[in-house]
Amino acid sequence: MSSQIPVAVLGATGSVGQRFISLLDDHPWFKVVALAASDRSVGQKYSKAARWVLDVPMPQYARDMEVVPATTDCIDAKIVFSALHTEIANELEPQFAKAGAAVCSNASSYRRGEDVPLLLPEINADHIQLVRHQRQSKGWSGCIVTNPNCTSTGLTIALKALDHAFGVKKVFAVSLQALSGAGYPGVSSLDIMDNIIPNVANGGEEEKVEWEPRKMLGKFAENKIELADITFSVHTNRVAVIDGHMVCASVEFSNPVDPQAAETVLREYRAPLSASDLPSSPRPVIEVRNEADRPQPRLDRLTGKGMTTVVGRVRRDPILDLKFVVLSHNTIRGAAGASIYNAELLVNEGLL
Ligand code: NAP
Repeated sequence: MSSQIPVAVLGATGSVGQRFISLLDDHPWFKVVALAASDRSVGQKYSKAARWVLDVPMPQYARDMEVVPATTDCIDAKIVFSALHTEIANELEPQFAKAGAAVCSNASSYRRGEDVPLLLPEINADHIQLVRHQRQSKGWSGCIVTNPNCTSTGLTIALKALDHAFGVKKVFAVSLQALSGAGYPGVSSLDIMDNIIPNVANGGEEEKVEWEPRKMLGKFAENKIELADITFSVHTNRVAVIDGHMVCASVEFSNPVDPQAAETVLREYRAPLSASDLPSSPRPVIEVRNEADRPQPRLDRLTGKGMTTVVGRVRRDPILDLKFVVLSHNTIRGAAGASIYNAELLVNEGLL
């Protein structure tokens, strides 16, 4: 790409915002031109406004940038990465789309929108075409494209590979979700040390993980998505891990399945061509571990630079058909890396 595309980050000081700042450092296509946050941070240098919590240094380019308000008057960028909370995203994201920006959002505000793609490019890159319909129906030149909730991410990628081969019918899943998923400062240390909290986002998380995979695994036809006919039952739990969401899943299929065949299908799964060779494409899409005690968040979350979905413990389920464990880095593949990958797909498809 001859000249870089100007991009902005909304919610740049938060847990996901910091991942954006880090992943966009030296991005081959994108150049960060604006960092926005709340009134608390506006007017300060980014290095002062953000309490940096990543275990990699704050990139040099961001340190001296002044944090600006998250308004279309203050930001001129072709792509706007949103790491805003739902209530704020509700209001601000359409304003940017109307002003002509492609909004790549982490918030749940518009994920259920009939004309809004809910994307994991390695499994449903074709859904990006909904953007054309969205532009027509909303009459704006920009668009809103969303990525799923970070717990749905790894689970849905593994299910896609298996669905194609065996036909997924029912999923029972239990999550063990990292602390960074609750934002910064997130859950109080006295609540989570020596503990597990069997409730994430006041129950709202379970609804998301029971619905979002159905949209992503659904068929795109005639400008809409037909939800996949799969039943989900999900328990979500917050655990004392910093990064990396784990999901233990049991699945019923339409066709006969055995663990070895399932492992082969998972290992050989490939992204659609349009999404397989972008700067953030996961390499590989899925890694299958055979050790009895893997994947583990601390050891495996950075597989494929945090973009790979790691699956292990693939075995027979005595009640349903198959059970396995999935691990996905929640602020990389589940959040900032996801939006950046979506933006790359938009560019690649000529939809910017
Ligand atoms: P967070 O750590 O609480 O950060 C929130 C950010 O929003 C901060 O930069 C904050 O700025 C900014 N902000 C607050 N009010 C604002 C306003 N009125 N105008 C502009 N900016 C404002 O939250 P997070 O965990 O990064 O989550 C961000 C979004 O991503 C949420 O919608 C979340 O559900 C979603 N998400 C998170 C994860 C994850 O793993 N964390 C994964 C997937 C999706 P100040 O610092 O100035 O207050």
